[in-house]
Amino acid sequence: MSLNDTPRANRPHIAIFGRRNAGKSSLINAITGQDIALVSEQAGTTTDPVYKSMEILPLGPCVLIDTAGIDDEGTLGQLRVKKTREVLEKSDLAILIIDPTLGISNFEKNLLKSFDQQGVPVLGVLNKIDLLKDEIEELAKELDLNLHPISALTGEGIAELKELVARHTPTDYTRDSIVGDLLSPGDLCILVTPIDSAAPKGRLILPQVQTIRDILNHNALALVVKETELPAALASLKEPPRLVITDSQVFKEVSALLDTSIPLTSFSILFARYKADLKAMMEGIKTVENLKPGARVLIAEACTHHRQEDDIGTIKIPRLLEKQAGGKLDITWYSGSSYPEDLESYELIIHCGACMLNRKQMLSRVRKAREKNVPIVNYGVFLAYMNGILERTTSNLTGRGDRI
Ligand code: SF4
Repeated sequence: MSLNDTPRANRPHIAIFGRRNAGKSSLINAITGQDIALVSEQAGTTTDPVYKSMEILPLGPCVLIDTAGIDDEGTLGQLRVKKTREVLEKSDLAILIIDPTLGISNFEKNLLKSFDQQGVPVLGVLNKIDLLKDEIEELAKELDLNLHPISALTGEGIAELKELVARHTPTDYTRDSIVGDLLSPGDLCILVTPIDSAAPKGRLILPQVQTIRDILNHNALALVVKETELPAALASLKEPPRLVITDSQVFKEVSALLDTSIPLTSFSILFARYKADLKAMMEGIKTVENLKPGARVLIAEACTHHRQEDDIGTIKIPRLLEKQAGGKLDITWYSGSSYPEDLESYELIIHCGACMLNRKQMLSRVRKAREKNVPIVNYGVFLAYMNGILERTTSNLTGRGDRI
């Protein structure tokens, strides 16, 4: 993917399930109009799903997930269940493809239960209708699922299927905004982005770029400065800005420079609201207030980025947590797509801003924590709390009532 493309985390994820030889690869080729073999369907192939960012009209940019390895053969049952769950946690829509010549087995029935449990809408597709037309009703009845007939071979039914995919894929990403719902056209927003040794060379980081784009989308004005230039920027304005958004790491300095009448928040807090459940994280902070030495804490980062000397997840946050608890903590780190199964063994989860996860996946992590009664906060909420400005940085975020 090039830097100009829609980030994967902002694209709806569509997972394609079906038995070996049901026609998953041909379906993907028919939908995309390209000949892309995403994965070999040879027996013994990997169980890792394959992700492909692409454009499906009329839906637009999306990610297709080929689950070719999650099959009813050649894979241990438990592993299949685990892989299916992992895929569904990030899927906005599942397509279940059925080959009428193979019929229906427990594989399809168990998948339908999993879709239901994970709250993922499903589109049933009956392939190979060029071979068998008469069985559609019978199979649909057996699965209790509407089946859309197609032939990946002849292309019959594919155009209608694409319309169905567009209609049934939730598009929270494109409707929701990071900050635009707090701004009116013409409002000025100052973004404070430190350029220190942790900043990537020659560019801004993804949350900053996405926030600027969101401000522009809402016909508001974005002024981007380093914290050192903030006083000059403020002095140059005739009127105070509508909002200041800062990197969490310079919260304290920025807060000290601003009059308390100017609303202040952070990129991480905006992303907690955009990607996840800020309300749950505000509840989670109560556990931080009462943290005791020895407590078991999970620090989760959604990617394996290059670690700096004073790395936020492995150095800064643990240092602040132990200061708050008044002694050593039992901290475990997870990064990338791995996430522990035994969440109940932790007293607190501290999660990164999740810029690489889609909203569905981050909400799934929050839901899992809630199910196990484990409080969860993210870096932004935690750092704002530790700097004593959580109240200030969240009190103005009332544009989207269901989040906070
Ligand atoms: S650690 Fe989290 S917030 Fe940081 S870059 Fe990775 S996904 Fe984004």
